[in-house]
Amino acid sequence: MGLDIDWSEEPVPNLSQWDSYETAREEFEWRIPETYNAGADVLTHEDDDRTALVQLGPSGEVERWTYAALERRANSLANALRARGVERGDRVAVVSPQRVETPLVHVAAYKLGAVAVPLSVLYGPDALEFRFDDSGAEIVFAAEDAIDAVETAVERGDAVDCVVGIDTAPPTVDGVEGERFEDLTGSSQFEAVDTAPSDPAVLIYTSGTTGRPKGVLQGHEYLLGHLPCVQMATTFPWHEDVDPVFYTPADWAWVGGLYDVLLPAWHYGATAVGYEFAEFEPETTFQIIENHDVTYPLLTPTMLKMMAQVDHSFDLDQVVSVVTGGEPVPQELHRFVDDTFDVTLHELYGQTEANLVVSNCAEWFDPKPGSMGRPVPGHNVEIIDEDGNQMPDDEPGTIAVRSPDPVMFREYWNEPDKTDASFIGEWMDTDDLGARDADGYIWFKARADDVIITAGYRVGPAEVEDTLIEHDAVANAAVIGVDDETRGQRVKAYIEPAPGVEHSDAVADSIATQVRDDLAKYQYPREIEFIDELPTTTTGKVQRHRLEQREDE
Ligand code: ATP
Ligand code: MG
Repeated sequence: MGLDIDWSEEPVPNLSQWDSYETAREEFEWRIPETYNAGADVLTHEDDDRTALVQLGPSGEVERWTYAALERRANSLANALRARGVERGDRVAVVSPQRVETPLVHVAAYKLGAVAVPLSVLYGPDALEFRFDDSGAEIVFAAEDAIDAVETAVERGDAVDCVVGIDTAPPTVDGVEGERFEDLTGSSQFEAVDTAPSDPAVLIYTSGTTGRPKGVLQGHEYLLGHLPCVQMATTFPWHEDVDPVFYTPADWAWVGGLYDVLLPAWHYGATAVGYEFAEFEPETTFQIIENHDVTYPLLTPTMLKMMAQVDHSFDLDQVVSVVTGGEPVPQELHRFVDDTFDVTLHELYGQTEANLVVSNCAEWFDPKPGSMGRPVPGHNVEIIDEDGNQMPDDEPGTIAVRSPDPVMFREYWNEPDKTDASFIGEWMDTDDLGARDADGYIWFKARADDVIITAGYRVGPAEVEDTLIEHDAVANAAVIGVDDETRGQRVKAYIEPAPGVEHSDAVADSIATQVRDDLAKYQYPREIEFIDELPTTTTGKVQRHRLEQREDE
């Protein structure tokens, strides 16, 4: 039972050694080695018979992979890629869902010193073409669900010269070689390239919530930079007798799935669960957590909202902590998790550019629902003004992370001006607005782009949405500002109704009446419109800018 971790060798200390959050923040020190390769890190464990991955197929097949078996397959792939000419710095794209080949491509690329480019299978040809061209990926791995879109994108673009089909035949495109994943094999021994911790390892495109996605280049140490927060939010070091099983339905092409869950689980030698699905299934998610003894599920707010709408009489006793983040977390979800899982909902905060820098940890302090938590030891997070001065308590400003930081990006790929513009002196500007209270908790206010200015007041959509979601008729809500002659902008709410609720004036009135009392007068949505489905990113984040476009049309 439990994990056998030699903490003296760990680049991130065991946080449970500190009785209090305050001492941990004071005494924490990174121990990042001079050379570090994330690919060599994640699969190499003394106890390599342990299950690294429980892979669930689309029709319920279960496949178990030990660390030893994964390491052999990753090495064999790395040798085959080297034989094909993949070198240090080359970009290797992978368009594949939660299946074993996806992380195998990452590990092989990291070991080669190449740069993995994770991409979602939900992307269409345009989205893929942009990312292939922008990243300059020469080789693309594509699973069956993505193969047609990849084919079209590769035909149109000119960067890619080889497509590898994962469990599917590669497309036939003039001038582009085709391979099958199962044929890319070589010796099962591979010596990982000696990389400096900051050498590029992964190029991740941001979610594209606010507009065109940005390619974020991160080094090998990016993984290590996530670990203190993973310890805090799961609280796993405090529970040495627990057999840790990590699971998230979040895509492994997204930083949240790959770097908050799968790779940290493997760094520590724990078990991760993967499930390949076409669309998020709330009941199946409960079922997986129950059947596979998941102890640390990461469920985004959107997922939790959907899970709250279905029957949830499952046996969830083994769950130790539910982790969430990526978008504002309505207070209602804390009650839902408490009632359903009987554990604390641990919210965390970060972005592709500097991930997991704020978190909760019930072992140290009680979360304040609505707040994202406190700065994670090892990271410096402050609220600043546009000149980089720290704001007093409770005063809103920009959420900023101090550089250098192992979890901080090196650059926006091909966009040096954008990279420069993200720094105010030593502070990286997250483009998110927030405030710190007297106890040091950070409260998310809004993305800078989403702030609504109405009659001179600044309104963050999240607080209004939080209140709307309390209403039984509301499954999800998004709030934007629309042009208004007298106010400049007025607050408008788009409502995705709960199952079975009709789009009627009576329902709208009932929602309006309920929220009127809970919100300040200027925050109150003067317009309510029902929508069958809110526009979201592939990771389920509401794209308010698309609702704004809809208003313009
Ligand atoms: P893009 O930058 O392309 O618009 P994105 O910012 O959504 O997309 P990510 O890097 O995946 O891309 O997401 C990070 C952002 O998600 C943060 O900057 C923040 O706005 C939001 N976020 C993350 N965690 C939280 C949280 N706990 N509460 C509120 N918002 C959060
Ligand atoms: Mg962003």
